Amino acid sequence: MINVAIDGPAGAGKSTIARKVAADLGYMYIDTGAMYRSLAYKAITGGISISDEPMRVISMLDDTALDIKYIGGTQHMLCDGSDITDYIRTPEVSAGASAIAAIPEVRAWLLQSQRSLASDNNCLMDGRDIGTVVLPFANIKIFLTASAEARAKRRYDELILKGEDVTFEDVLSDMIKRDNNDSTRACAPLKQADDAILVDTSDLSFDESVAKIKNIIADKVGDK
Ligand code: C5P
Repeated sequence: MINVAIDGPAGAGKSTIARKVAADLGYMYIDTGAMYRSLAYKAITGGISISDEPMRVISMLDDTALDIKYIGGTQHMLCDGSDITDYIRTPEVSAGASAIAAIPEVRAWLLQSQRSLASDNNCLMDGRDIGTVVLPFANIKIFLTASAEARAKRRYDELILKGEDVTFEDVLSDMIKRDNNDSTRACAPLKQADDAILVDTSDLSFDESVAKIKNIIADKVGDK
């Protein structure tokens, strides 16, 4: 199986770019951030304060069933049988995902399913620790980044399009906070793997970014 690991900070374009590349190549796209988001959503709606009550989060895992389903090529998250895909992109869930992702037991709980998806499928898997921890032997590792302003602008535009009531300043400061949280946590922090190729999308259009990633993959595995 061909496994492509794509890591990077929030808003670098990982998911939109990876989804398009995967569709073009006929690979499965696996968004691991959505898994953390789903667990955060369940905790928040269940009244758990993620940062203050990590033990409640850990015991929540014992009666949680998380599944991924693909509908028309789009990844949907099923939590305990309900499709929660539409509820996991809010700023509150983003912050909760970053907090829940710092709990080692949560990461360990997700690791096996992430690895088994990759071992059964040609895939592009995106996240923060894919090249470093989840798939250290991935055929290709890409670290996708962009300036904080460029990333915040993209995330702001996305949220506004969805009708969320946010300001650019709030999006930028949430993003910087989340990057800091993700990069400084003890367990599987966001960091570029030694053998990852760095791609900076600050000045690249979406199509240019997609072409660049496809070229990197083609160079390594001969696919286009
Ligand atoms: O990629 P996305 O922004 O949806 O991820 C939400 C949060 O989940 C990140 O801020 C990060 O804390 C966490 N995450 C992680 N490891 C991954 C994917 C996401 O820690 N592989």
